[in-house]
Amino acid sequence: MKVYIQTDIEGVAGNVFFESRKEVSYENYEHRRRMYKLLTGEVNAAVKAAFDSGASEVVINDNHGSGYNIIFEELDPRCEIIHGKNASGPHWLPELDKSFDAMVLVGMHPMAGTPKGLLQHSKWDVNDGKIFLSEASMAAAIAGDHGVPTVFISGDDMVTDEVKAKIPSIKAAAVKKSLSPYMGRCVMPERSREMIYDGVKKGLKARRSIKPYKIKGPVKLQLLESNKGNHDQSRGFYSVIPEGIVRKTIDEAISDFLKKMTWCSIDTLHPDGFEYP
Ligand SMILES: [Zn+2]
Repeated sequence: MKVYIQTDIEGVAGNVFFESRKEVSYENYEHRRRMYKLLTGEVNAAVKAAFDSGASEVVINDNHGSGYNIIFEELDPRCEIIHGKNASGPHWLPELDKSFDAMVLVGMHPMAGTPKGLLQHSKWDVNDGKIFLSEASMAAAIAGDHGVPTVFISGDDMVTDEVKAKIPSIKAAAVKKSLSPYMGRCVMPERSREMIYDGVKKGLKARRSIKPYKIKGPVKLQLLESNKGNHDQSRGFYSVIPEGIVRKTIDEAISDFLKKMTWCSIDTLHPDGFEYP
């Protein structure tokens, strides 16, 4: 059994502030180190659950920000990790293909515009508002195009509810409750790891009865971003490519969408993310 673990940091228990890769202060340095440790603990719980469920291969995608967040020297030595960046924008699920048996999502956050959603950002519009996708459900939809079911999600209660509505049989661990964009009620790290371990085991056990999340094509894809920038939702959104991109599948649409974004060059020659403060 091959398992792909997609990760982000905003949905990790204990995290209620966006990361600043620019601010040079001891407080920021300390905060980032702590968040990386919390992320690593949750990811490692998912890795252990996968191997304890009989996985032969576990691949992690270190997806947040710089693509270099997880303290990999603390991970279970049996897994492998994809880190760094191939683009000056987001990179999506490298190395994922139909040979994988399941995808697991750890540390997910609500889509932009979710009232009170903790650390919300990004909102994909499919077919002119017929479906909205968070980064979590976008990952599930890409995996769905490869025939890979998404069997588990952890994050706050709002993103887990959104994804449960789309994939009713998915197993979920809401490790925090969103109270406002920058306030949440969180379980302690030890507990979040237990919840993730148990949920991943249950999800992998049920993987044959969890259908891949497939959005029927053709699809028109648009990305809504904050007018004010820097994740600030207070002045609403704009569509990054107003005419959108129409393709047969979500997987094709997103890869062409990223190529069309002015600030997103793939395979980048610019060392974005490695310019530490
Ligand atoms: Zn992130």
